[in-house]
Amino acid sequence: MELAFLYESFLESRSVTTDTRKVKNGDLFFALKGPNFNGNTFAATALEMGAAYVVVDEAEVVQDDRYVLVDDVLTTLQQLANLHRRTLGIPILAITGSNGKTTTKELVNAVMSKKYKTYATVGNLNNHIGIPLTLLAMDESIEFGIVEMGANHQKEIASYCSFVEPNYGLINNVGKAHLEGFGGFEGVKKGKGELYQYLFETNGIAFINSKNEHLMEMSPFEAPVLYGRNSDFYNAKFLKSDPFVAFIAGNEELVETKLVGDYNFDNILAALCIGKYFGVPSIAANQAIEQYDPTNNRSQIVKTEKNEVILDSYNANPTSMRAAIENFASLQKENKVVILGDMYELGEESEVEHANIGALLNLLTDTKIILIGKNMAAASKECTAAAYMDTKEAAVNFLVSNQILNSTILLKGSRGMGLESLMPLL
Ligand code: ATP
Ligand code: MG
Repeated sequence: MELAFLYESFLESRSVTTDTRKVKNGDLFFALKGPNFNGNTFAATALEMGAAYVVVDEAEVVQDDRYVLVDDVLTTLQQLANLHRRTLGIPILAITGSNGKTTTKELVNAVMSKKYKTYATVGNLNNHIGIPLTLLAMDESIEFGIVEMGANHQKEIASYCSFVEPNYGLINNVGKAHLEGFGGFEGVKKGKGELYQYLFETNGIAFINSKNEHLMEMSPFEAPVLYGRNSDFYNAKFLKSDPFVAFIAGNEELVETKLVGDYNFDNILAALCIGKYFGVPSIAANQAIEQYDPTNNRSQIVKTEKNEVILDSYNANPTSMRAAIENFASLQKENKVVILGDMYELGEESEVEHANIGALLNLLTDTKIILIGKNMAAASKECTAAAYMDTKEAAVNFLVSNQILNSTILLKGSRGMGLESLMPLL
């Protein structure tokens, strides 16, 4: 009952908010709860700011009929999003995976928008709140939706699928990320695999990188759309990443990108495979890949006055760290420096994973290595040639007295490390 009423009101305003600071006239305000806040206590403020209705789940705050009392505000938000998704009836592609979801989502969007009116998750709004808001932001003009799904525990992807109802899906990869919440690597496979399970049960279609043995093993499908090998639905030939990825596309065209890191080739293949499947002309699809310019500290090349920095400080986990180091090792450059910060959320595997990174760094004989953060102590024990600082403050002092000049630098660490703040010193 409430849902039909809310949907009517949503169709009038087309504007949903969960943040009182952003309320506009006529909005539907959802009073969500978080670890440190209770939206119910802001409901009155939201109405004062112009909200048409406020959706609450605590009876005490209700004052008049602009308060819509429900059992659970988050569930209602997801149900509203589901109703809207069903009303639109458009094809939706869900993207999950351990690494490169946002990059791949942007690439798929760039390719698909050459032929369709698309809507894709904005930025990284890939959680229980961001996903319903993504669906609700799609209007009737949209022909194809692309939804990024992040997850750090079991049953999360299954829960997102239950209201997104994707028809198509891509698991970019499974790696050592969020090991703590998933319960180890097998747990990651199971958790991400919930997307395959949903698609399998609903006759949906999955796009799978056939070179990824884990994904192939996880696949329950009889006929998934494969990419990566010659016999597959889509393939391309990798040429180089020095530092930018270049390749020969499926139509034999040379494509030169603005993406750093050979691991991005997998992300590109996914996007081109999906484009081909939906009939995007290959020349236009290749052009979309060439034009895509990454931002937001994800594998960006920044030329400073002193150095060239591969700024990859957006996040880090053992898989993406390894990929970045191996790619950096392959670059033919004169003075190379690696600056790495802690990887978070690894639970009991943290020490051993940091030590593994230290062992890998030992192979970089021509490279200066700087390790920062408490967890990196385990890496520095393995890689004794590295300079080690346990805090970022100590690293700042070190970089002031040991200036790096005329070098190519890889800067990578978990989001919480915020290593981009070192940029003024580089
Ligand atoms: P989040 O979990 O924060 O949403 P994400 O999965 O969306 O992350 P991106 O933001 O696209 O990932 O990329 C983050 C970093 O992951 C990149 O800067 C790069 O270092 C690494 N990365 C990207 N693609 C891959 C890949 N295919 N394999 C391994 N590492 C990758
Ligand atoms: Mg992301």
